[in-house]
Amino acid sequence: MDSPVVIVSACLVGLRTRHDGKDALSEAALSALKGSVIVPVCPEQLGGISTPRPKAEIAEGDGRDVLSGSSRVMDENGRDVTANFIRGAEETLSIARLTGATAACLKERSPSCGVGSIKRDGVTVNGAGVTAALLEKNGVRVTGF
Ligand code: SF4
Repeated sequence: MDSPVVIVSACLVGLRTRHDGKDALSEAALSALKGSVIVPVCPEQLGGISTPRPKAEIAEGDGRDVLSGSSRVMDENGRDVTANFIRGAEETLSIARLTGATAACLKERSPSCGVGSIKRDGVTVNGAGVTAALLEKNGVRVTGF
């Protein structure tokens, strides 16, 4: 049987893609991904934002609201980075389609990758990031770590 192909947040598998230039290595994620072909991606880098970069948050609601045009993503310097976040989500979806990935393991509490949690005003709240929301909308099974 062929190994499943899984999109994974790059920082979760040890790549230093976070806004602060660090990784978010997760042994739990690595363990869950055993036996899969992993495709590490960082939606914020794919959206054209540099690393390190200012922290960003979804202004209202969650990633679904950003995709529908009713919310924005703003960085800590007050710059509107909504277009970058949407582009990164779309590029990640393209990678899923190119590789045949039907599942994704994503980093919680991120405005891009959060599956069930994001941060607002520095506090964890329920909601999905922009990339998680777009993948889920397009039939990719998302799991958060
Ligand atoms: S956008 Fe996703 S992959 Fe990139 S650093 Fe943030 S949580 Fe990790």
